[in-house]
Amino acid sequence: MECKRCGNHDENRFAYDPYHKNWYCRNCIAFGRMNEGEPLKIKKYPAKAHDCPYELKYPLTLPQQKAVKEIRRYQEAGRDVLVYAACGAGKTELVMDSIQRYLRMGKKVGFAISRRQVVLEIQERMAQAFPTIQVIAVCEGYTEIVDGDLIICTMHQLYRYAQAFDLLIMDEIDAFPYRGNTLLEVIAESACKGRRLYLTATPDEALLAQVKQGSLAMVELFQRPHAHPLVVPQIVHTLPLFQLLYLWHFLIQKKKEGTQVLVFVPTISLAKSCHNLLKLKFQSAVLTSKSEDKERIIAAFHERRYDLLVCTTVLERGITIKGVDVIVLYSDHEVFSEASLIQIIGRVGRSIEQPSGKGVLLCTRITSDIQRCVRAIKAMNETLSSDMIVKGN
Ligand SMILES: [Zn+2]
Repeated sequence: MECKRCGNHDENRFAYDPYHKNWYCRNCIAFGRMNEGEPLKIKKYPAKAHDCPYELKYPLTLPQQKAVKEIRRYQEAGRDVLVYAACGAGKTELVMDSIQRYLRMGKKVGFAISRRQVVLEIQERMAQAFPTIQVIAVCEGYTEIVDGDLIICTMHQLYRYAQAFDLLIMDEIDAFPYRGNTLLEVIAESACKGRRLYLTATPDEALLAQVKQGSLAMVELFQRPHAHPLVVPQIVHTLPLFQLLYLWHFLIQKKKEGTQVLVFVPTISLAKSCHNLLKLKFQSAVLTSKSEDKERIIAAFHERRYDLLVCTTVLERGITIKGVDVIVLYSDHEVFSEASLIQIIGRVGRSIEQPSGKGVLLCTRITSDIQRCVRAIKAMNETLSSDMIVKGN
């Protein structure tokens, strides 16, 4: 037995339909029914050549220009590319050159990301940058139009685009739910008939192994546009009760300074109880994967209606809040992986107006993930200063 969409061969993962008298795949049923042995339908997504100028809010910095050239050189040599960029280094701007080159050649380009919220944000940014083409978002709630000049979609929606893309850009491939999900990997594999361009701030070992083997070219960009170094977290190593006291004093200090704070905690129940405690003294809000009005809460925080936002790792990626500081309670908890901590600390110092800030990791013991997070950020900062020395010469 074989499913031509997901490659499933396991008899136990097929179900019999007595009405149609055939078997169908249960493995990928979430993407619609696929009968056993049925050929994969390849829908045509025609592309025509566009001369599509793009406009950036800020011109590319020298390191960004250098990265763009490297990406171009690798792509022209027919290679897949991994862009390893620090949080806030402007990786979305880097891919606009590739998009333009492919569209000019009349090729089809897709941009896939794990989370729906980010699909909508990227669609808006791309539509602004490329005013002469039709940029569409395809994700939950936006599935009526599925073809445009440039398609921005969730990883899940890639099932619609079998063999469609000459260039498939995939952002945050190390993040949930894509990471370790073989079904999504197969779907993405089948959507791309040309080159792949991966973007991440925290590449995992599997990706780095591909770079080592030479099947993937890597381009690095660690300098943020404002050229300030990345914030290295301060580690406060103490008992849980003292962590709470530290947090309390930290928040009082920040309130005096008028600095907003993101308070990361490991679990949803802890987020709720922490918020109940903190709201006695501060304008506090809570945001977890279970919150129904995420967009409203984030918008209110942007408008500075809260002193602080208590959240789980649901907020570790994608969000940019001007001048925010970050503190992580119980950062030795297992949910805080190295990548997760790098992303969390990466929320600090992203804007040109406020290029620095403070990140604190409260913990009872210093885990290897905490150590690796600090090491990785310091290593990125080191390449940064050596870059500047080269430039100075
Ligand atoms: Zn299947």
